[in-house]
Amino acid sequence: MITPVITIDGPVASGKGTVARKVAQALGFHLLDSGAIYRAHAIACLSRNLDFNEINVLEEQAKALSLRFEGEKIWLDGADATDTVRSEAAGMAASTLSAIPEVRAALLQRQRDFAEAPGLVADGRDMGTIVFPNAPLKIYLTTTAEVRAGRRAGQVAAQRLAALEEDTAKGLIEKGNSPIITGLLETLRAQVQNEVEAQIRQRDSQDKSRAVAPLKPALDAIVIDNALHRPTQTVDAVLALWKLRAARL
Ligand code: C5P
Repeated sequence: MITPVITIDGPVASGKGTVARKVAQALGFHLLDSGAIYRAHAIACLSRNLDFNEINVLEEQAKALSLRFEGEKIWLDGADATDTVRSEAAGMAASTLSAIPEVRAALLQRQRDFAEAPGLVADGRDMGTIVFPNAPLKIYLTTTAEVRAGRRAGQVAAQRLAALEEDTAKGLIEKGNSPIITGLLETLRAQVQNEVEAQIRQRDSQDKSRAVAPLKPALDAIVIDNALHRPTQTVDAVLALWKLRAARL
């Protein structure tokens, strides 16, 4: 029997990662975070100071990528690289390197190998168009860049707060969820909103305009505006759609 795959594609911070993880948990399916593979490749290239114009070298690095997922943790070259891989710098570098056809080709089979029984939820940009074109359920999640930037800005603000000088951070954290923390987070969030929105627009534009595997919904994808619903409603909608599709497999 062919392993069933649900693809969830969409732009930066559309919420697809959260939805994909929850759908996979609910169904007991495996999860593929394909963006993390491109990010890990980018970090491997950056840490080796590889020249982004040397296509063959970048392709060889993609083939040799030593990467392991362990729950939420990402191990690269044998070390825990979770935070580095999740950084915005990794996302931007991944967006540049993932436009190279040879790099994409070298990482294709690695992604397809995630399709194992009882099923897979695959999150990315080209899951429904290229990697799993025969998937029985394809979702494309999106919202405006402004809404997405608002969400991402909250995450960036929290990271910046955690990265404050050790003593300052310790003192603030000891105060728990005090109004000081809430106020500081809000100030940081407002400060990073414009910066984050500009980054999101740039990455969207790179991902949509590249010649190979551009970000777009598959012709048979169901497009969901993720700003119209709470994440749990989107998850419920995907699960309901899957129930209908699975009954016809
Ligand atoms: O989804 P995430 O932000 O982790 O992806 C990082 C970058 O990797 C994206 O901006 C995109 O350029 C690239 N990517 C891709 N194809 C995928 C997943 C991610 O090109 N399937």
